[in-house]
Amino acid sequence: MRKSSLVSSRVKRNLKGSRSIATVDKNLIKKMVRKCIRLLHKKEYELDLPKDATDNALYRLSIVDKNVNGATYASWNIIQINLSYWQHCKGYPHYEREYASYDSDPTIGGVTVNSLEEALWVTVAHEVSHHIQFRYCPRIKRFKHTYSKPHGDCFKAIYRYLRRDLVNPILKGEA
Ligand SMILES: [Zn+2]
Repeated sequence: MRKSSLVSSRVKRNLKGSRSIATVDKNLIKKMVRKCIRLLHKKEYELDLPKDATDNALYRLSIVDKNVNGATYASWNIIQINLSYWQHCKGYPHYEREYASYDSDPTIGGVTVNSLEEALWVTVAHEVSHHIQFRYCPRIKRFKHTYSKPHGDCFKAIYRYLRRDLVNPILKGEA
C-alpha cells in the first residue's frame, strides 16, 4: 500500500468508496493544484510564472458536482473539476484515458489508476496544464504558435513536466 502525505486519514476513507465521491475533501484538490503550480515555478521549465500563479489558480478553481459529461475543463480564467465525472467510474483499477492523439505516449498518455486520488492527480494535472497554457504561455516565445491549441505542443510540454516530474512518480509509488 502506498501512502500519500497529502491525504488525511479522513479523506482516505472518503476516497475508498466511489459512492462517497461528493464528500471528497475539496482541500485535496486544492493541494493538488498547489503542488502542480509549485512544480511549474521551477526555473528549468522556463515558464516564468508570476509569484501569484498559485493564488490565482486557486481563486479560479471551481469544484462542481454536475451530472454533465465534459464539465471538467480549464481556460485562462477557470479550472473546473467536476466530481460527478468520477461517479461514472465503476471501480479501481481502471484505465484513465487521455486525449486520443497522445493516449499512447508513455509519459503523458493514458495510465492505469488504482484509486480516486490517483485519477484526480491525472485530471488536475491535465486541467492545470490547460490553465497555464492559456493564461501564461501567449507571452512565451517558444509557444507563440502553439499556446492556443487545446492539446497541442504547448499543452503537451507543460503536461509532460507535470506527469514526468510529479504525477507519474506518485502513480508508481515513488513519491
Ligand atoms: Zn484537455
